[in-house]
Amino acid sequence: MEGEVIAISFDDAYECVYRHAYPILDRYGIPATVFVIADYIGKKNLWDVPLSVKRERHLNKEQIHELVSRGWEIGSHTLTHRCLTILGNGELKEELEISKKRLEDLFGVEVKALSVPFGRLNQRVADAALGVGYKIICGFFPFRLYYGRAYIGEIPRLAVYSIDSVHEVLSKVGNNKSRLFREVLKQNIINFCANGTILVKSLG
Ligand SMILES: [Zn+2]
Repeated sequence: MEGEVIAISFDDAYECVYRHAYPILDRYGIPATVFVIADYIGKKNLWDVPLSVKRERHLNKEQIHELVSRGWEIGSHTLTHRCLTILGNGELKEELEISKKRLEDLFGVEVKALSVPFGRLNQRVADAALGVGYKIICGFFPFRLYYGRAYIGEIPRLAVYSIDSVHEVLSKVGNNKSRLFREVLKQNIINFCANGTILVKSLG
């Protein structure tokens, strides 16, 4: 997208961001945003589907401090990575407010951006997020790249997956409309499958 700005963000704050992405981005002087699950700093991933064999460790405090010192932005990916749209108002506020405050206290930066777990967002969640001081809300909803944003502060994102080829990644940021649309469609199918994670968690 010629003349447009591209922002890079990472959800879940896995250690692999520090190991693989950070050295390359830092070499080219490109900062990114990392969305941290405040209760899981330095811990192993226990919040994903219980059947998952992958137990990746999350970034620890020192690693996040280093990213901040190199110009990275810290955003909140809530406290415990629960699906916000199914929480009651009290728990919803806790997830949004406590995570923001904890990250700000730990890293001495203002946390302006929220990324909603599983990309699930509705008007109630958006209002609650803006109410506790977030200015930016990141979801998936890539079709809104075409139709405009639905909520104040919302930024639609296109995901990059480990299954993506270099060609597909370039399609996400390129000028070819039909190649971009294919990527948007792919993301919506993957998002639909990710709803299974929410279902398994709500049953367990
Ligand atoms: Zn996540």
